Amino acid sequence: MKFRNFKTVPKMIFGRGSFDQLDDVLADERQQPNDFVVFLVDQVHKNKPLAERIPAQSQDMVIWLDVTDEPKTTYVDALTLKVQRFASQNNEWKNPVSVVGLGGGSALDLGKAVALMLTNEGGSASYQGWDLIKNPAVHHVGIPTISGTGAEASRTTVLTGPDKKLGMNSDYTVYDQIIMDPDLLQGVPRDQWFYTGMDCYIHNIEALNGTYINEFARAFGEKSLDLCNQVFLRDHPDSDEKLMMASYMGGQSIAYSQVGACHALSYGLSYVMGYHHGIGNCIAFDVLDEFYPEGVKTFREMLKKHNITLPKGITKNLSEADMDKMIRTASGLAPLWENVYGANWKDKVTPELLRDLYSRM
Ligand code: NAD
Ligand code: ZN
Repeated sequence: MKFRNFKTVPKMIFGRGSFDQLDDVLADERQQPNDFVVFLVDQVHKNKPLAERIPAQSQDMVIWLDVTDEPKTTYVDALTLKVQRFASQNNEWKNPVSVVGLGGGSALDLGKAVALMLTNEGGSASYQGWDLIKNPAVHHVGIPTISGTGAEASRTTVLTGPDKKLGMNSDYTVYDQIIMDPDLLQGVPRDQWFYTGMDCYIHNIEALNGTYINEFARAFGEKSLDLCNQVFLRDHPDSDEKLMMASYMGGQSIAYSQVGACHALSYGLSYVMGYHHGIGNCIAFDVLDEFYPEGVKTFREMLKKHNITLPKGITKNLSEADMDKMIRTASGLAPLWENVYGANWKDKVTPELLRDLYSRM
């Protein structure tokens, strides 16, 4: 048996107001007068007080990200080209000294992806998979402004490509630096706060109930779950701090375990029906009583407490072809199902089972 030898984020800052230390972090990277930084910022922050605090210098580039759709390989490639064009106009051609991703899971994943594609030739679709990246990325800094995905901690950047939704998983993907400033969660719409937070809750339930679990993953997963319970069942006054740590620890737990049935189904919903990750997970989790009885029960209490009504009957008018595509997407996620059922998962994960689950959503 070979154990995973995985990379974690080497440097991190945590605390209210810590965003203002970004300037110091970047100063360490800036060596020459024409060194520049690229800021990839969720456009929800445009013209907001946070935008004024971005420590961009005159030679830097600020790109406002459209996250209406979750990150696509085509968008990553277009952003990369934009940075390269900017570089060739303003300098003798060279890469930025740092790429900063500022926003939710989408912006964090775009930050990682662009940092990777600036040093690896060809389109991002050719790197969707495990350990296909050849060269180290440009230095990259991740700063979450909504919490739950664990993207700040993980070694993947999830992308929708021409023929699959799959991450660029590699040690080079991991952020060189993260800044976790709970102040930045201000202004997140309540329903989105819930859906993205539930991503974390569900990561923990799937990991803790999975066959891949070990004490390393359990230590992070149990603590993360406890923090989620404090945030979503008890409205703890330090909820922002707690959710931010829950997200990070959930990401650490998954690094040494795996997600499960809910994520497999949710990938199908997202790939075929365009549901965003957080809400897609919630819709899928709500039909998984047999898989995660305790977890689903508590999830329903959370829904009730926060007055969240999930869409229902979403697959009612789906064409047969789309249903098949969704079933194929979900059943293709071998490690997730192995985490649910163990080595013999193929006997259990039948098209009938998946069809039944999808038709109940
Ligand atoms: P998101 O980044 O798509 O953001 C959700 C919404 O919240 C957006 O409209 C955004 O503009 C808004 N928002 C973000 N911060 C805000 C703030 N402070 N105030 C007001 N609005 C704010 O959502 P997400 O749930 O964080 O991320 C989902 C993405 O993350 C998906 O693409 C998913 O595939 C990916 N993901 C990645 C990993 C990983 O390990 N890399 C893990 C899980 C999910
Ligand atoms: Zn997730």
